Amino acid sequence: MRKVLLVTGASAGIGTATARLAATRGYDLALNYNSDRAGAETVARAARDAGARTLICQADVGDPEQIARMYREVDGAFGRLDALVNNAGVVDRSAPVTDITHERLRRMFDINVIGAILVAKEAVLRMQAQGDGGAIVNISSAAARLGSGGQYVDYAASKAAIDTFTKGLSDEVSRENIRVNSVRPGLIETDIHAKGGEPGRAERLAHMVPMQRPGSAEEVADAILYLLSDAASYVTGSILEVTGGR
Ligand code: NAP
Repeated sequence: MRKVLLVTGASAGIGTATARLAATRGYDLALNYNSDRAGAETVARAARDAGARTLICQADVGDPEQIARMYREVDGAFGRLDALVNNAGVVDRSAPVTDITHERLRRMFDINVIGAILVAKEAVLRMQAQGDGGAIVNISSAAARLGSGGQYVDYAASKAAIDTFTKGLSDEVSRENIRVNSVRPGLIETDIHAKGGEPGRAERLAHMVPMQRPGSAEEVADAILYLLSDAASYVTGSILEVTGGR
């Protein structure tokens, strides 16, 4: 039987690469997006071509009511959930802490932290009810360790919260064979940098990476699929760095 995987933020970047790879590894897919319907439809087509059943669900994970609607759709389409990639996330423009507003902090933490925790909570409730384990991969960032001073300390702090949440949730649910890990991507070539007002950021900062290049979304997806898989059956509460050594 194919396992059912929910990927949040599946319409672009790391989420798209993860969904595409997961379809080839035997998962059926619930594909969440917020604004990019066309991106979600493109990845859904590719997943179906690879043999997956797919559901596209629009929801802003910064809004608890939309998370609830998304899960009603997942329940209706598949009736179960085996795995979650908690990937949806945002950065913002580079700014010192002295310029960061309350409004900006609310958006960042509503999406990157509160949304991710609520999405994981609903996944755990379903996995516990099913009684046969599960796997969750939260997408953190090397920023959680680096702090991102002068760029986006708020983003870095939101990702540090994800790492702490990963360890705590893992401790709560590992007896039920629900494994919870996080992946910390480094500088990855996706549109997130342009959305934060810096289109050339990954190339510009590549010299700071020991491997001297940005990573690809596909390289992050490989790490995510490993953590979801039975090959990682004794791995939980861990943080996997995918940073080219940075
Ligand atoms: P991306 O290309 O900008 O894609 C972001 C995805 O998240 C899109 O599918 C977007 O959906 C979705 N999203 C954003 N806000 C959302 C919301 N409120 N509700 C639901 N979905 C939402 O970014 P990416 O680089 O692939 O980043 C994916 C994850 O990796 C993020 O958590 C990011 O922080 C993390 N990360 C990225 C890097 C990097 O260098 N790229 C490094 C470290 C960590 P729509 O487009 O449909 O709105």
